[in-house]
Amino acid sequence: MERIIEVEKIAFDGAEDASLRPSAWEDYIGQSAIKNKLRVFIDAARKRAEPIDHLLFFGPPGLGKTTLAYLIAREMGANIKTTAGPMIEKSGDLAAILTNLNEGDILFIDEIHRMSHTIEEVLYPAMEDFRLDIIIGSGPAAQTVKIDLPRFTLIGATTRAGMIGNPLRDRFGAHFRMQFYDVADLAAIAKRAANKLGKPIEDAAAEEIARRSRGTPRIALRLLRRVRDYAEVEGETTIGFERAKSALDALGVNENGFDELDLRLLALLVEARGRAIGLSALGAKLSEDGATIEEVIEPYLLANGYLERTARGRIATIKSYEALKLSAPAAPNQGALFNDRS
Ligand code: ADP
Repeated sequence: MERIIEVEKIAFDGAEDASLRPSAWEDYIGQSAIKNKLRVFIDAARKRAEPIDHLLFFGPPGLGKTTLAYLIAREMGANIKTTAGPMIEKSGDLAAILTNLNEGDILFIDEIHRMSHTIEEVLYPAMEDFRLDIIIGSGPAAQTVKIDLPRFTLIGATTRAGMIGNPLRDRFGAHFRMQFYDVADLAAIAKRAANKLGKPIEDAAAEEIARRSRGTPRIALRLLRRVRDYAEVEGETTIGFERAKSALDALGVNENGFDELDLRLLALLVEARGRAIGLSALGAKLSEDGATIEEVIEPYLLANGYLERTARGRIATIKSYEALKLSAPAAPNQGALFNDRS
């Protein structure tokens, strides 16, 4: 079953997702440190009348990496072409994409860590010297043909910072680490979207959605649309606090933005009474694969101190107990419980 708080795009998001995407720089809320730095890059590149440097964005899904790429293209007055690591199966696929670019175009590669190493190597000269090296034939008769490419900008996005090797990482002119959004920013995002959907929302209701959105705009927008459905069925013209609260409860998203899966995960950690649980053991107990836990479920819990990652595995923190409405055993420090005892 799809989780309502899934961070990846799900079928429910549909076409409305595109209509809610900010189309102006000012409508992109939050991430101000990143926006300020980008502003300088964009203005400098425009002054020099050159394409902007290659950029790499790290961060969990749904935090606005793709949206930023589109906004950069807009600010640069550039065309943008988008693809994703898993869609590029052969070196030839990437060569075809690159040779079809025009001067100043932006190429956005989502999930860039999922490109194979051989394909990645095609990118190196393309990024560095705007050149493609194509090898024709094999063995001693093999020849390298060099093809010049137009000056383009590569924008890469990845959820797994650790999976980008140095050779690729170093070829980007700048790296940006996306942050989870705070409640005020998410409430502003929900408010703006509600107006766009023609269903204004009360401040308190927008904040309630924001609190339950795990710091992630994609989740805030999805919850907003579901809450709007509830309001619509009741014939309400605006979304009020009580409606938002009851709809979110009905959707199975609790006041921390956790659903049953998160709570089961936290319960396992708490039941382990200070022992660390490895990723694969957690996966087996939750019937989820390790990568899903690591990339999708855990980042928000980790960033907010609901669990701690150690070399031996995951352990409960005081907040894990609080999230389950249990009182934590007396702990010597604020961080992970039992840390020094096992
Ligand atoms: P990512 O590429 O990081 O997975 P997206 O750029 O696809 O995330 O963003 C997910 C959704 O959240 C989009 O529909 C977008 O409209 C919205 N969104 C993301 N960041 C912002 C923001 N800063 N302000 C307003 N809406 C945002």
